[in-house]
Order: sequence, then C-alpha cells, then structure tokens
Amino acid sequence: MPKTLETVLEIDLNALEHNFKYLKSRLRPNTKFLAVVKAFAYGSEAISIAKKMEALGIDYFAVAYTKEGIALRKAGIGKPILVLHPQPIHFDALIENCLEPSLYSPKILQEFIAAAKQNNQKNYPVHIKFNTGLNRLGFSRNDVDHILNLLKDREELKITSLLSHLAATEDPNEREFTLKQIDTFTDIVLDFEEKLGYSPLKHILNTSGIINYPEAQFNMVRSGIGLYGLGNEPEIDSQLKPVVALKTVISQIHKIEPHESVGYNRAYSSNTQRVTATLPIGHADGIGRQYGNGKAFVNVHGKMAPIIGNVCMDMIMIDVTDIQCSEGDEVVIFGEHPNADTFAAYANTISYELLTAISQRVTRVIKGV
Ligand SMILES: *Cc1c(COP(=O)(O)O)cnc(C)c1O
Repeated sequence: MPKTLETVLEIDLNALEHNFKYLKSRLRPNTKFLAVVKAFAYGSEAISIAKKMEALGIDYFAVAYTKEGIALRKAGIGKPILVLHPQPIHFDALIENCLEPSLYSPKILQEFIAAAKQNNQKNYPVHIKFNTGLNRLGFSRNDVDHILNLLKDREELKITSLLSHLAATEDPNEREFTLKQIDTFTDIVLDFEEKLGYSPLKHILNTSGIINYPEAQFNMVRSGIGLYGLGNEPEIDSQLKPVVALKTVISQIHKIEPHESVGYNRAYSSNTQRVTATLPIGHADGIGRQYGNGKAFVNVHGKMAPIIGNVCMDMIMIDVTDIQCSEGDEVVIFGEHPNADTFAAYANTISYELLTAISQRVTRVIKGV
C-alpha cells in the first residue's frame, strides 16, 4: 500500500471476498445470499463493492432507496436489486430501472399496482414485507387475505419473495423474542404460500441472524455489516476482516506548555507539558464531536493516542506526548486496530453509524480490485 498522504478510506475487496466466503460457509450451500449495499455500501463505495460481489456470484442486492438502486444500474450492475423502503414518488423510475420494491402496507401495494399498470407491466417482481415485531415497516399477518385479494386476477405483479426483519439478532437476552418473530414469520409464509399457489423466496436473517439463528435461513439471507467485516461480537469480528480503514496523516506537531489550551473553547488544557498532533479530519468527515475530549483513541505507530479538546469541522488534535512521531506520519482512526466496533463504542454508538457517517469528502481508495 502506498504511504497515506491525506485522509483516506481504504476499501479492501479481498477482505470483502473473505467475509462473503466466511458467512456463506455458515449457511447451507443452496441458500441464496443478498448483499445489503444501502447508504453507499455502509459508507464505503457501493459501486466497487457491488461489482466485486457480482464477480463473486452474489444472488441479490438490497438498497434502502430507489436512487441508490438507480446508481447501481447506471454503473452496470445487472443482478436483482431489492429496494427496502421505496416511496411512490419514485415508482416510475424504479420500474424503468428494473428495481424490485419491498411492499409493506396496503397503501403502498395499491399505489404500486397502479404504477405497474400504468407502465404496462406484467409479472413485475415485488417483495412482500411482514412486520413480526420490529414495528417499523411491514404488513401485519391479518393483511394476508387482503394482499391476495388485491392481486387476484391481476397480471401486473409477481411475488418474488416474502420477508421480515428481526429486531435483536445480536442480543442473546432477546432470544425468546427473536424465536417468536421467526415463528410468526413461518406461520405467515405457510399461510401465504398455500393461498398463493406458488412458492416465493423467503428471508428474515441479517448478519447477526446468520450467526445466531442459522436454522431460520429459509432460502435467502441478507447481510450488510458482516460483509464489511464487523460481526457485532468480538468472536465473529475475529473471523472477519475489516473492509474499510480510515487513515490520515499528521499535519503539524505542537509543544504545549503547562496551562496552555488546545482547540475551540479552550476545552483541553493540562498542568504538564504535552505534545499534540493535528490531523486533517473532523466532524465534516464523519468523526463527530462526541469522539472528542478524551473519549476516543486513534492508532499512531501502534500506540493509542486520545483525541483531545473539541473536534473541529476539519481537524482533530491528539495527544502524542508519549509517542515518537513526526509530521507526515500515518495515523489510523479505525481499521484493524481499533476496529470500527471499538472506535464506535468510544462514543457509545455502533459501527453502522460510524461507517455510514464517513462523508463523501473523504477520498476512497480501493484495494484488491
Ligand atoms: C440494513 C438491513 C439489513 C442488513 O443488516 P446487517 O445487520 O447489516 O446485516 C438486512 N435487512 C434489512 C431489512 C435491513 O434494513
């Protein structure tokens, strides 16, 4: 890898391949795999990630919004793309780009039927999402007959899959609740399939579901965070390889005399002499103010240096008093060590939020194409 000369988000496609193979190895060989690439592939770079996943033989993609799916189609991605949270205003564009909506309410179903009809569609692939306890999006089990009635004697739509989403797959304390969600989903899909007369794909597991509830893999699973190398628990993290690493470089070193202050609002001062390093990354890049004032640590030549004072828009200052380093040296914000789970925990958040907040200003560098 060339020397880091600015703030970069390195994206390692070989690590992605490793994680995909690892997760697949935990599943039955014929279980389909959907790669979740919403929010720029969890803040990384959706097009490179999707192209690599296509080359690896992925079955399906999912994005949250229609525009994310359009960007993939424009880049030449040809595999089916599920849009998890489509809005009616985008239905024409969705159809034009052969994207597949997750339909989650009677209203959205009716509006999609109308859009499909208007666009002269026949057997347009759609996915029916059921709410089994997350209480976010989804039909209730009482809607089954209503859905089937709406679709009866119509040719516009073809149900490609039935799905639901689990609320707490990473939390062993919620095992009972999760098993109940899985049971509810199983009941709904049995009822639905029998009345429908054909058998769509069925899927409910996210990454932690794959790890903790493999018996509920049905015929497809949906993984996001695991593909990017984070498993929501240290044991799984150790089997996965981080796909993204946020690296930067020391811009300037300062000697700070006792009782001098550092940064905005003079939030940091010490009664001893300190050495600080200023880094070209700030809250506009996705490292929020909650990481400042000693909460988070970054890696300088293998040693951990605290972020001191307030995080600025474009810069942070770190304490390198006990670390031999110079202007121009590389600093790892997160990657292998600390990994994104650990770094996020410094600010009481989760890797998902940290990764997706890395702003588009940060240069993406793709490794292992
Ligand atoms: C984001 C999302 C996923 C992926 O979850 P991970 O924990 O990242 O694997 C799967 N399904 C749905 C419906 C999602 O919104």
